[in-house]
Parts: sequence; structure tokens; C-alpha cells
Amino acid sequence: PRKADFVVVANRLPVDLERLEDGTQRWKHSPGGLVTALEPFLRARQGAWVGWPGVADVEVEAFADGDMWLHPVRLSTSEFREYYEGFSNATLWPLYHDVVVPPVFDRSWWDAYQRVNQRFAEAAAEVSAEGATVWIQDYQLQLVPAMLRELRPDLRIGFFLHIPFPPVELFMQLPWRTEIVRGLLGADLVGFHRPGGAQNFMWLARRLGGFEPSRAQVGVRSRPGVVQVGDRVVRVGAFPISIASGELDQLARTREVQQRAKAIRSELGNPRRIMLGVDRLDYTKGIDVRLNAMYELLSEGHATVEDVAMIQVATPSRERVEHYKQMREDIERKVGSINGEFGRVGHPAVHYLHTSVDRKDLVAFYCAADVMIVTPVRDGMNLVCKEYVASRGDLGGSLVLSEFAGSAAELTSALLVNPHDLDGVKDSMLAALNIDQAEGRRRMRALRRQVLTHDVDRWARSFLEALGASPTE
Ligand code: UDP
Repeated sequence: PRKADFVVVANRLPVDLERLEDGTQRWKHSPGGLVTALEPFLRARQGAWVGWPGVADVEVEAFADGDMWLHPVRLSTSEFREYYEGFSNATLWPLYHDVVVPPVFDRSWWDAYQRVNQRFAEAAAEVSAEGATVWIQDYQLQLVPAMLRELRPDLRIGFFLHIPFPPVELFMQLPWRTEIVRGLLGADLVGFHRPGGAQNFMWLARRLGGFEPSRAQVGVRSRPGVVQVGDRVVRVGAFPISIASGELDQLARTREVQQRAKAIRSELGNPRRIMLGVDRLDYTKGIDVRLNAMYELLSEGHATVEDVAMIQVATPSRERVEHYKQMREDIERKVGSINGEFGRVGHPAVHYLHTSVDRKDLVAFYCAADVMIVTPVRDGMNLVCKEYVASRGDLGGSLVLSEFAGSAAELTSALLVNPHDLDGVKDSMLAALNIDQAEGRRRMRALRRQVLTHDVDRWARSFLEALGASPTE
């Protein structure tokens, strides 16, 4: 097997294994944001990617995908349930998102999480060349840094958390809090989206590990904070992730996308305003918040269904996890009742799409939308709002954005709202619907300045530089 001097470890490989009806298998590229961001670095350095291929109970040999080496990690069906659906998505996900729903603490899930993390660490140890740089991704793999260091002290190890890191009082609820903190401290650099997350982690390192944070600035991007762990130094900092903004800007300007956008407007009957939400169907996204606000705007006569069309794309997500089933029912009941009360023939109040939309259609929706509504109650970053901004080279459109999305720290020229304050959300939606054109353009120009200069390539480079690994050497 090949050894690589740059290795990415993530829950999922950048390709999905597909089983066809005739029993054969094939690989399909999964074009997620992280993949787009990291692939160029991997290919330039003939790197390796360690991850699960997306199908349980199959053993797949490592293989080359062009310049990249892919190293699949096997999961059994029960491990998938306990490590992934259970501990990752029903324990850590709600706990790290401000306990929007109660996290489940299940000891057998924890056992599976440890076991699977150990397997990822062993796979990473196997593919890493002497002195290699290994970049571990996200909440499913928080024990891997320490496990990998135990196996391979020669490696340079980075870890990045793609979801929020919670306030310490919430993190302290976790029965296995010490193990998680020590797991992360196996890295040389631990990265978060926001300085607040980095600060919380530094506090916990001292409280739970007895490790001393130095007084260096915490979470300042160019000068991460420092924790002394025995004779090792662990750096901790904030690295807000982004999107391939330039590419999206270009795509949005193509004739094809512009025509699709026009077609969307005309299929809706050319309403004065189109309002758009695009989210995974997740209880953190505050889809109910904007539906409630829309209900009130309609019932108070601030909007009519002929005047304002609302589109909500709700991508299917984690459909076997209990809270997700429940919340889908709640959302769909709400959509049904708003449409029943206010809809007219040919003019539903809410155009609800429970589906995944491909990239060009998505950008066409962005271009067609006068108002983009992003109201999560908690979100590590939220890329949809950055994509909307990158798509609006025409300087049209207004963004209503929750203060509780990581992106709010950068997108300060959006109409920022507290998603718990229904009147505030309603007022901002109304303000966005009726915004003065010059004011709208001024805000969009400022938003674009931020998004176009801070793309995902810059994110990856700044993390790798802080890790002391030149990205393309
Ligand atoms: N997305 C997509 N098709 C859809 C809906 C969303 O490709 O139908 C993409 C979207 O372009 C964005 C990502 O999914 O890049 C969602 O990222 P975000 O950070 O907003 O939320 P997450 O789902 O990661 O919580």
C-alpha cells in the first residue's frame, strides 16, 4: 500500500460506493464543500484520504483515484447506527448545538464511537509516511488525534471542528467529556470556526485535563492560543470556513443559470418578491421560525400570496433519527396549514420542496430570490448564506441572517436577526421585502467584499500554515 505525506481523515470519503440493482458496485463522486476545498491540496501532494465509503458491511481495498489515494474504513451496520446515527448525531450534534433537542447519553454508543475512532486512527497510521501531516475532520472523529499520536508520535496532526463548540456548561454534561478533550489534545493544532469555541476549549483543557493554557491571545487567527500538554504544545485557534466563491460567482453569471432563474420567476407568476430558504431538514436550522414569521406577515396583511412567493428547499437528512422524523412532521404540518389558510389556486403561500437540488438549480434559485432567509438557532458556519452572496454579482437581493450562525461574525452587513425573537424576524423579513434599492446594493456590495476575499482555499491554507505544513510543498 502507498504511503502519503499528506493525509485527510474524515467520516466520509470524497466518493460514495453505490450498489447497483444487478449486484455490481461503482464509485460516485460526492461534491461536498470540504471535498472541493481539499482535493487540490491532496492531488498536488499525492495525498491520501481516509474515510467511510457510505455503505455498511463492505470491505474495500485502498485504491488510487488519479493523484489521490483513497483508503476506505469499514463500518458494520450496527456501528453505523451506534457510532454515526447514535453518538455522532443524537449525542454530540444536539449537545454541540446548544441542546436544541435533548442529547441522548448511551453507553453502548460511546463504546462504538471509541472503537470506530480507533479504527480510523489505525487506518491513518497505516497510510502515513514518516513525518507526514494528517488533518482530521469533525465531530465524528474527536478521539482520533490522541489515538493516532499514540500509534505514530512522528506525525504532525491537525484537527478541525466543523460544527460549533458548545459553552462549557453544556459540554460538561457529557459523561465522556474528559476523554473527548484529551482526544482533541492529541493534535498539534485544534481549529474551530469562532474564537468563542477556541476559548471554551482552552478553558476545558485546563479544567478537565489540568493542562495550562498560556496567556497568549486565544483564537486570533494568525496567532492561535497555546495549551501546554506535558512536554508538547497544542495550539488552538479560529479558522472560519468558506466556499469556492470565485467559481460560484462565475457560475451565477452564465447564461444557463440566468435563464433558469428567469424561468423560476415566471413559473411562480412573476411575483413582486421571491423569498428563499435552503436548508438540510434539521432542527438547528430554524425553518419553523421563518414559517411562523411568514404566517404572521400574511395574516396581518403585510404580504399576499400573489405579491410574495416563498420557496423552502428542505433537503432530506438523517431520516432514521427520531428527532428528525418528528421535526419533518411538524414542518410539513405547518406548511400545510399556512397553504390551507392563505393559498389560492395557482398561488400556494409556501412552495415546499423536500428534495436535494443540484448545483446549477440551486444557484438559479439564489439568483431568482429577492430575499434569502437563513434563521438557524445554531449553526457552526452556514455556507448557504455565503453562496447566496457569491451568486449576486448583480448586487440584487437581501440577506436575513441569524446571529447564531457562525457566518454572522463575517456577514455583518446582512439584516441580522435573533431567531428566538419572532417580532424581530418578522420586521427584518418585511424590511428586506421592501428595502430601498440603493440600501440593498450597498449591503450586498459589502457582503461580497467579505465573501469573495475569504474563500475556502484561503481557509485551508491558513489552517495548514498554522499547523506548520506548507500546503503544496
Ligand atoms: N446543498 C445542495 N443541495 C441542496 C441543498 C444544499 O447542494 O439541495 C448544499 C449547499 O450548496 C451548501 C451545503 O449543501 O454547500 C449546506 O451547507 P451549510 O453549511 O449551509 O449547512 P449544513 O448542511 O452543512 O449544516
